[in-house]
Amino acid sequence: QAKESYNQDYLFYQPDMFNKIKNKQDIRKILRLALKNNGFKLKYQPQVNTKTGNVETLEALIRLKNYSISPAEFIPVAEESGLIIEISRWVTKRAIKDLAVLNKKKNKSLKISINFSVQQLNDLDYINFIEENMRANKVNFENLEIEITESLLIHQEQKAINYLNQLTDLGIKLALDDFGTGYSSLNYLTYISFSKVKLDKILIEEFLEYDNINTIDSLISLFHSMELPVVAEGVETEKQLAKLKTANCDYIQGYIFSKPLVFSQIIEKIDQL
Ligand code: C2E
Ligand code: MG
Ligand code: MG
Ligand code: MG
Repeated sequence: QAKESYNQDYLFYQPDMFNKIKNKQDIRKILRLALKNNGFKLKYQPQVNTKTGNVETLEALIRLKNYSISPAEFIPVAEESGLIIEISRWVTKRAIKDLAVLNKKKNKSLKISINFSVQQLNDLDYINFIEENMRANKVNFENLEIEITESLLIHQEQKAINYLNQLTDLGIKLALDDFGTGYSSLNYLTYISFSKVKLDKILIEEFLEYDNINTIDSLISLFHSMELPVVAEGVETEKQLAKLKTANCDYIQGYIFSKPLVFSQIIEKIDQL
């Protein structure tokens, strides 16, 4: 008992703890300022078709211009504070503009995907917002993909289902992001029409490290039986790439092909891949 409370006190007085608390406030301040002063930028990472070698989709990933704080750190703060609503609208607007330029330049029908946070289910006007931006920039709804994670669907609330169905009714594509990190009940696949599943980096690492190719092979076959193409995320090595090809994985997203790059760079990179 005495030891336990000692530990708690000890924990409480760790200087790190204070830094963390202070950091959160700092991050919130930084995010508010970034919204006001054009302090965000987008990077894009390609998804490469394993059969053709072509890039078909670019994932938009947000960055802070003047700080080396990763989205893994600041997105949760944005989500807790509600700032995610405004930040997501900025991302959406920027990505749709880039999508229009991209397809004009390349004279092709490439897709851009953006990430979606559960808090956005409360932003009912976001759907109109997307629609307006898509029409203003004259881009096809089919060329916008929205990435959602399983956690958004755990409770299979009608609200989430309706919201996502509204997006797909417009022609927007849905990708299931970070598969393998959540609950994986797969039940929701019957309620929502996804166009793609993205296997999380952790899954790729675990399966391929232990040479358990059968497991990933079966998983990919399962998704293919549901007519869902599969993307492997976080692919870094030739060995991983070869195994994923053997397992019939449809797309590869990872450093092996490209790190996330700013728009002007990704436009050049696409032709070199
Ligand atoms: P995510 O959506 O799963 O995005 C993939 C993450 O994996 C990106 O991290 C990407 O840079 C990283 N990645 C890709 N290939 C490799 C690889 O080969 N090796 C390694 N080590 N990493 C790789 P990033 O850009 O730091 O973003 C982290 C997460 O932050 C994203 O994970 C997503 O959940 C969130 N996020 C990023 N941008 C946005 C955004 O605009 N809105 C929202 N709501 N979330 C975002
Ligand atoms: Mg994503
Ligand atoms: Mg992911
Ligand atoms: Mg992730």
